[in-house]
Amino acid sequence: MKNNVFELEDALTLVLDRCRCLSTEVIPLEKASGRVLASDLNARYDVPLFDKSPLDGYAFHASDTKSASRDNPLKLAVAEEIPAGAYPHKKLKKGYAAKILTGAPVPEGADAIVKFEDTESSDGYVTLFQSFRSGDNIVHRGEDVSINEIIAPGGTVIDAAVHGMIASQGFSAVEVYKVPLIGIISQGNELLEPGDTLHPGKIYNSNRYMLTSALKKEGFSSIYLGSVQDNLDEITNYLQDAVSMYDVVIMTGGVSVGTYDFTEAALERAGADILVDKVKMKPGSSCCMAFLNGVPVFGLSGNPSAAMTTFHLITVPALRKISGQAEYRLQKISVRLAETFKKKSPNMRILKGRLSLENGSAVFHLNQHQENGSVSAMKNAEVFAVIPAGSGSVHSGTVLDAYVIS
Ligand code: AMP
Ligand code: MG
Repeated sequence: MKNNVFELEDALTLVLDRCRCLSTEVIPLEKASGRVLASDLNARYDVPLFDKSPLDGYAFHASDTKSASRDNPLKLAVAEEIPAGAYPHKKLKKGYAAKILTGAPVPEGADAIVKFEDTESSDGYVTLFQSFRSGDNIVHRGEDVSINEIIAPGGTVIDAAVHGMIASQGFSAVEVYKVPLIGIISQGNELLEPGDTLHPGKIYNSNRYMLTSALKKEGFSSIYLGSVQDNLDEITNYLQDAVSMYDVVIMTGGVSVGTYDFTEAALERAGADILVDKVKMKPGSSCCMAFLNGVPVFGLSGNPSAAMTTFHLITVPALRKISGQAEYRLQKISVRLAETFKKKSPNMRILKGRLSLENGSAVFHLNQHQENGSVSAMKNAEVFAVIPAGSGSVHSGTVLDAYVIS
């Protein structure tokens, strides 16, 4: 057994440095939601494509309205009507107005628009009761997006806004990174699947489901590869098979130093390069991060809370990087501790909790359970607050760094 013990940041950097993005593929726009752009996407067109009306009204020459007022109404002849989708081919002459509908192009010559509600119209004429300046109520060409600007850099996750922007440029297909195929393995003689009959000494496998859901929330799908017994040969074979078919393998259980903890030994036997086998933090110190045949294997603790700690702090950033995301590290914020945390922290301690906003600052509320083995510790957790190594009890009101995990 090696002794690759690291501070969290060092462990993370080691792992991230070895993670590579997958190759790219071109997919139809309708399938692109949640995918990661492979390269910068530049605007092909100005948005809007032409000066347009933001409302239903009349377009005219602003200079015609100089002395218009309630007492001195201005009557203009309506030369044409321009609905959305039509294109005005005639130049609008001074002294005339064009009826214009929302989204329609402003006719040449016109430089201001009045909304219907502020006019009176009859028999081909419209009456205005106020003066306008050039540009009033006109949305100018390129005001929103201008041609050639980068609408989204490579590494951007295609969320609703980006999806819409890509569509507004008329792209019907996009080049994105391939999505990693993630395999999950559970390890432990004690494990049963929900639905199985309980026997003394056995427990239900909850890690599998917790990981699957957490991955889904991060935008990843995964496949459950099954549960293995605490048996070195079996684990070695499982891992070898898994890395031949999957881009990433996540396994829980068997990463500590017990007689039946075989994950690291199996990885070593299979010829893996083991980068990290302990992180100086609590919970989640026991883990095993390795590369087997170039495939990252994340060996997490069997203890649910510990597994999720290491998963969020190391596996998630690594998965984001592998999937091509430019922003792969967890967002870090400052939080104010709501209640005093009494225990000492010889090692860096990760606290799970929820956030509230009080007087403009983020306040951290500790989850009731924080133990390694707790299955409820992650309930409603939004952030992981960090108590630095060597701390005594930490008083309410203390400001701590925290990782955003949702
Ligand atoms: P291990 O990491 O194998 O030493 O397991 C640590 C603790 O986590 C033990 O109490 C196990 O029973 C429990 N455990 C292991 N795997 C799972 C799992 N898939 N779901 C829930 N608990 C587990
Ligand atoms: Mg075990």
